[in-house]
Amino acid sequence: MNSPTHTTNAIEKGAMLYEGKGKKLFATNKENQLIAEFKDDLTAFNALKKSQESGKGALNCAISSAIFDLLQKAGIKTHFIKQLDSTHILCKKVKIIPIEVVVRNVATGSLSKRLGIKDGLILPFTLVEFYYKNDDLGDPIINDEHCQILGIIDDIKELDILRQEAKRINEILREFFDKKGLKLIDFKLEFGKDEHGNIILADEISPDSCRFWDKQTNEKLDKDRFRQDLGDIKEAYQEVLKRIENR
Ligand code: UDP
Repeated sequence: MNSPTHTTNAIEKGAMLYEGKGKKLFATNKENQLIAEFKDDLTAFNALKKSQESGKGALNCAISSAIFDLLQKAGIKTHFIKQLDSTHILCKKVKIIPIEVVVRNVATGSLSKRLGIKDGLILPFTLVEFYYKNDDLGDPIINDEHCQILGIIDDIKELDILRQEAKRINEILREFFDKKGLKLIDFKLEFGKDEHGNIILADEISPDSCRFWDKQTNEKLDKDRFRQDLGDIKEAYQEVLKRIENR
C-alpha cells in the first residue's frame, strides 16, 4: 500500500488528503471512498508529548476494524467498509462534525481533574460530553448553545442524535468488553455526514481513543500507559486485540 499506484481489489490509493495524529487519509479511485492508514505515532496532551511505537498502527487498525464490524452488525451506521491490509481500511468519505463526543462510565482523566470527582468512581449514569475539535484551542468542552453559536452543527437536533448514538454504542461495547474481561471506562467518538447528509460514526475506536481496565486487576490497557509512562504500551494493545479475537 506504499505506492500511489498500488491496487487492492481494484481500489487505488491516490493522493494523501490529510495527515492527523494517528492516521493518514488518502483519496481513492472511487469518489465517495477513502483509505485511512493507521500510523505508529503516539501523541498525548494535545501533541505536547510525542513518541512512536512500532506495530501500534497495525494493532489499532485490527482493533478498530473489529469494533466497527461489531457495531455495524448491531445496526450502527458507520463509515467503515473493510480492512484492506494490516494498516489500511477503506471507508466512506464523510464531512467530519468537529465535535469529540466523549462517553464516560467511570470517572477518570480530565473529568476527575476538572471536577474533583474521585478517580475510578462508577458514574450513576452514562455521561456524554462534547468537546470542540480544535487543536489551537486545546479541544475545549462545549455545550449545545456553544455548538450553535460556533455553527458547527446545522440543527440543534443533531446533538440529540449524537448523544443517542453515543449511548447505543456504549451499551453495545460495554457488554462486549465485559465478556472479554475488560471494563470500558470512557471513550471518544467522532461522527460525520455522508453524501446524503446522514450522520454516521467515523474515525477509529481503539486503545488510543478508549480507556480499558482489566476487570480483575484494574490494570490499564490503553493510551494511559503512554500518558502516564507506565511502559508496555504495545503489550497492552496486543492484549486488547487478543481478548477481542478470543471468541
Ligand atoms: N480522548 C481522545 N482524544 C482526545 C481526548 C480524549 O481519544 O483528544 C479519549 C481518551 O482516550 C479517553 C476519553 O476520550 O478515553 C476521555 O478523555 P479525557 O477527557 O479524560 O482526556 P484526557 O485525560 O485524555 O486528557
